[in-house]
Amino acid sequence: MQSVAASQYQESPQYIDGSWRSAAGPVIDVVNPSTEDRLVGVPSSTSADVEAALRAARRAQRAWSALPIMQRGDYLRSIADVFAANHETLERLIVTEVGKPAAQAAGEVAFAQAFLRYNADWDRRLEGEILPGDVPGEVIHLLRSPVGVVVAICPWNYPLAVLCRKIAPALLTGNTVVAKPSEVTPLSTIEAFRLIDAHIGLPPGVLNLVTGGAETGRALVRSPLTSMVSFTGHRDTGKQVMAEAAANLTRVSLELGGKAPAIVWKDADLDIAVPAIVEARHTNAGQVCTSAERVLVHRDIVDAFTTRYVHAVRLLRVGDPMGSVDVGPLVSAAQLEKTTTALEQALDDGAVVAAGGGRPQGSAYARGYWFSPTVLRDVRVDARIMVEETFGPVTPIVAIGSLDEAVEISNSSRYGLSAYLFSRDYATVMRSVNDLQFGEIYINRTLGESVHAHHAGMKESGIGGEDGKWGLLRYTQIKTAYHHYG
Ligand code: NAD
Repeated sequence: MQSVAASQYQESPQYIDGSWRSAAGPVIDVVNPSTEDRLVGVPSSTSADVEAALRAARRAQRAWSALPIMQRGDYLRSIADVFAANHETLERLIVTEVGKPAAQAAGEVAFAQAFLRYNADWDRRLEGEILPGDVPGEVIHLLRSPVGVVVAICPWNYPLAVLCRKIAPALLTGNTVVAKPSEVTPLSTIEAFRLIDAHIGLPPGVLNLVTGGAETGRALVRSPLTSMVSFTGHRDTGKQVMAEAAANLTRVSLELGGKAPAIVWKDADLDIAVPAIVEARHTNAGQVCTSAERVLVHRDIVDAFTTRYVHAVRLLRVGDPMGSVDVGPLVSAAQLEKTTTALEQALDDGAVVAAGGGRPQGSAYARGYWFSPTVLRDVRVDARIMVEETFGPVTPIVAIGSLDEAVEISNSSRYGLSAYLFSRDYATVMRSVNDLQFGEIYINRTLGESVHAHHAGMKESGIGGEDGKWGLLRYTQIKTAYHHYG
């Protein structure tokens, strides 16, 4: 990391009302997960900073929403252009702070741009409705108005993509924003704001940045100046956000965790299913909300599947995420401990290791938060690893005997974000799509949502949803105007 940038991250990490400001809250170290080296300490925003950012956003909101929407679309397109021109800087920071392999970091920066461009293209398409009045000389307009000030609270696993997933629809629809990155990975977000500040010339207060962890997040959620909280993160944090937002009846959109089942039916094409699930479990070292967290394979093919899956997992290249590898380290000591505990509990519950099993061997892995891609067989359906989100590269494989059983096991989870199904049979696919209680179902393919679709969890995976038309409209509210003209 260049020292100039490092000093900025340290000295003036907040962007409020169009200028960079120092922060006087607790300093939180950002650590390179590959080496455990401290990259920089980023000071947190205080509650006064949060208040200042929200006030700036509120002041700016009326003029911003009065701009023709096409101009707001142009701003988003310009931001995407700047990110494209500076993609290497952003990618390097994502690799350094998340530990995500370079090719996947490049994918994330492209994904971020796609959110900006897709939402910008709604600039000529956002429509209201005109209704006839009940009495003569009256017409009723239903207008799509902005919500006001949107607080965007982001996780560490896709820091830039999730930021853009939120700010793009929020800004296009006339809201102003205060964003907070995860304290674990704030650098790519600060850099993104630095690029926006240097090249775009957004009106002051339209887009603000505060730093810190739970305390900063709580201050944002509790403030009566906040109109909507768009939150992505852990289920338990989401529940706290919802409870705190209730005090002011602030609206929330919560994108939370998952425990995606991957059902491999007996007629599945294993040439498709095996690589798809390997990718869906190991992208970003398993730290993806849509990751295939439990694999349910028909008992007629479970041995063949497991043999091929283990073979493919052993071929995964684990190493320095700057290089050509498939799996980097986990993001933090906390994630490593969580994954290690999940494995230990699974073994206590009777599971058998078929590949991997903890920290990889060798001096290259002595420091850093490394965890070998691990496959478990003979896993009990009620084992903890089948229930709680692992968020690490561990695949439990369970044999199933019927589709009903697979659906029942899948639906027994408190989560309901995504599910995978591998089958060539039309009726099996249609029955599963109907019966699976998940917001996003991938059939005969790996993970990866489209910016124009809809990303939303059922049950404890969230409330609301992002992307596409329905995600965009969530940042609006309908205002009704009765025009009596005669
Ligand atoms: P987290 O809940 O620990 O933190 C998320 C954000 O919330 C961070 O910015 C954090 O500082 C902030 N925060 C923490 N406590 C807060 C509080 N009390 N009030 C307000 N803000 C608070 O989650 P994480 O560990 O950063 O992310 C991993 C989780 O996110 C996983 O469960 C994963 O499945 C989920 N996730 C979901 C999606 C999705 O789209 N559904 C996408 C990515 C990640």
